[in-house]
Amino acid sequence: MIVVGGGPAGASSAFALARAGARVLVLDRARFPRPKPCAEYLSPQASRLLHAMGALDAVEAAGAAHLAGMTVRAPNGALIRGDFAAPHGFPAFRDRGLALRRTLLDPILLDCARRAGAEVRERARVADVVRDGCGRVTGVRVLDEHGAQRELGARLVIGADGLRSVVASRLGLSRRRRWPRRLALVAHYESFGDVGAWGEMHVEHDVGYVGLAAVDSGLTNVAMVVPARAAREVSADRTAFFERWLRGRPQLAPRVAAARRVSPVLATGPFASHARRAWAPGAALVGDAADFFDPFTGEGIYAALRGGELLAPFALRALDAPATRDADAALEDYERARRAEFRDKWIVERLIGTAIGFAPAINYFARVLEARKDMADLLVGVTGDFVPAREVLRPAYLLNLFRHPGARPVVPARDT
Ligand SMILES: Cc1cc2nc3c(=O)[nH]c(=O)nc-3n(C[C@H](O)[C@H](O)[C@H](O)COP(=O)(O)OP(=O)(O)OC[C@H]3O[C@@H](n4cnc5c(N)ncnc54)[C@H](O)[C@@H]3O)c2cc1C
Repeated sequence: MIVVGGGPAGASSAFALARAGARVLVLDRARFPRPKPCAEYLSPQASRLLHAMGALDAVEAAGAAHLAGMTVRAPNGALIRGDFAAPHGFPAFRDRGLALRRTLLDPILLDCARRAGAEVRERARVADVVRDGCGRVTGVRVLDEHGAQRELGARLVIGADGLRSVVASRLGLSRRRRWPRRLALVAHYESFGDVGAWGEMHVEHDVGYVGLAAVDSGLTNVAMVVPARAAREVSADRTAFFERWLRGRPQLAPRVAAARRVSPVLATGPFASHARRAWAPGAALVGDAADFFDPFTGEGIYAALRGGELLAPFALRALDAPATRDADAALEDYERARRAEFRDKWIVERLIGTAIGFAPAINYFARVLEARKDMADLLVGVTGDFVPAREVLRPAYLLNLFRHPGARPVVPARDT
């Protein structure tokens, strides 16, 4: 079996499959550690997956910062705070999120796959999938670091190759969303003022948002997401754009004044892509290759790790299938399982991602959630992957969200 991409989704898939006895080859175009624009926060429930892979101790030993929850500052100054440890009755695997630079995290995850028995080949860029006469994927076409091309055969190809997945696009599965079209810029700072145990999101009227969070080594990750119309300015000089944007926010300017940027500013986007379905005969997609909307809720790494764990038993069934139609049925079941697992979460992510594009909406909801800490905790628990997403899609929760801030709730925030 070939796994294309050695990020969290590829590492998790390769780990689970190799541990179950499958022969797994991971191909990644990069040499690790490689840069990856990301806010680098791991939800509390991601720790369960790290633990299952045997990576949690190494992540802690690498100096991961601990996050107690999230704060969101709306354009009107309303401040929402949600804690992971909260009295809503949904315990997380751990009541802290973790934050570690991807240059440290991703090699740890890939090593777990190696230790489980997967072979990992770096600097191997997959240029295309290989198909038989019936259109069934039978392998990949790879370019090595010297540009030499060869075909590698596999009974199953897993596309874990991220946002601009070659596997998904060659199979005609990727679908770019027209809206929202946003770009991201990310950098690490030393001595960024007043960064505490809560991850911070600052949403600005019409110009995007920025996330701040402590990571390892006393550094702060600063991740900015701006509308795609800023693309021209960003490409003219992304560092100047980034620093100008931060200095232009009165609440951030004094904090950034004393800070020192210790990394280049990385850029990515536009994102928001969604595979029509996460499989084709002979191939399956996982992680960002299958689905990515907006980084505001910071759940991509969890979804990538969980996606790999979820895929493994279906991939093994497909490998052992006596006939191609049985293999296809196994991958179709994977699709169903993915939808059952992530559907409610996709809805919540999309609602949040849409609301932050409209200042009046985010201002209104922020006022409500500022006054209702219980509702904020529940929502942050959903984004932390340990409160079921349906809890914030219940009529009671939604009704309270639309009630005027300060009005007495007519129904409890959570149906019991
Ligand atoms: C600005 C921003 C902030 C974010 N912040 C957070 C956050 O705080 N928390 C969180 O959980 N998520 C966050 N995310 C999302 C998270 O980064 C992704 O969801 C996660 O990295 C997905 O993992 P993946 O393994 O699917 O893809 P990736 O991590 O992108 O890995 C894909 C791998 O495939 C390799 N590859 C690509 N093409 C090829 C090819 N043709 N051949 C061979 N190899 C290939 C790449 O080199 C890469 O190593 C953020 C995303 C963005 C853009």
